[in-house]
Amino acid sequence: MKSDSRPPSALTIAGSDSGGGAGIQADLKTFAAHGVHGLSAIAALTAQHTRGVTAVEVPPTAFLAAQIDACFEDFRIEAVKLGMLATAGVIETVAGALDARGGTRLVLDPVMIATSGAKLLADDALAALRQRLLPGCQVLTPNLPEAELLLGWRIPSLEAMHDACAALRAMGAEAVLLKGGHLEDGGARVVDLFADASGVRAFEHPRLDVDAHGTGCTLASAIAARLALGLETGEACARATDYVHRALLGGYRPGRGDVMVLDHF
Ligand code: PLP
Repeated sequence: MKSDSRPPSALTIAGSDSGGGAGIQADLKTFAAHGVHGLSAIAALTAQHTRGVTAVEVPPTAFLAAQIDACFEDFRIEAVKLGMLATAGVIETVAGALDARGGTRLVLDPVMIATSGAKLLADDALAALRQRLLPGCQVLTPNLPEAELLLGWRIPSLEAMHDACAALRAMGAEAVLLKGGHLEDGGARVVDLFADASGVRAFEHPRLDVDAHGTGCTLASAIAARLALGLETGEACARATDYVHRALLGGYRPGRGDVMVLDHF
């Protein structure tokens, strides 16, 4: 019998960025660059460009559930990436849909505030994120401000990043990739910490002096793509951090170009 040569499928459940730099648009470009078929369920719509977010709209949750159902009914989904989920109602809908399909590999990017300062998660949604999506996710990918909000304490040093990884795993994430780019006095290198049941590994890259947009979305979807391709979690995270570094090196400034978007190809 002929073997199945079709690419694996990965699903992003996230927000749309009309400027094409972050969110669903970054995720689909990342999946394509990895040779993975990309599916999407749009959890929120943003009107935005390289200078900021001008409006946000959240579609009815029944419509979000219909998008997720349509994807699961027809495709064999190897990994799911979760990005901007906007409200507690959206989080509840996503959690319900995923609970009904146990065993999905889940990469959770706990999107809260855009680099431009725009709020992408309602204040009252933080508890829902902690309780409904964090437990059991295969990889949680917070930056330092997001990890601080999830934990309720400051992370001012590399040592504190180690404690934060342990605490986030204790909250139920199987693995944590804690992004160190926001660390003050980080120096010439960016250190991301990966923690799972076997211990902690550091992934280091030279710090690039660029204002970029969509790096977190791209990292999480690159991890989901690598998981869909069959890599184990630590290796998927290591390669995904390299991928984002390369995409940053090739980035460009579209529009009026206040921030750069990543080059995925
Ligand atoms: N817009 C959407 C839809 C997003 O999902 C995100 C981040 O996840 C952003 C904007 C913010 O991206 P950045 O902080 O890289 O500008």
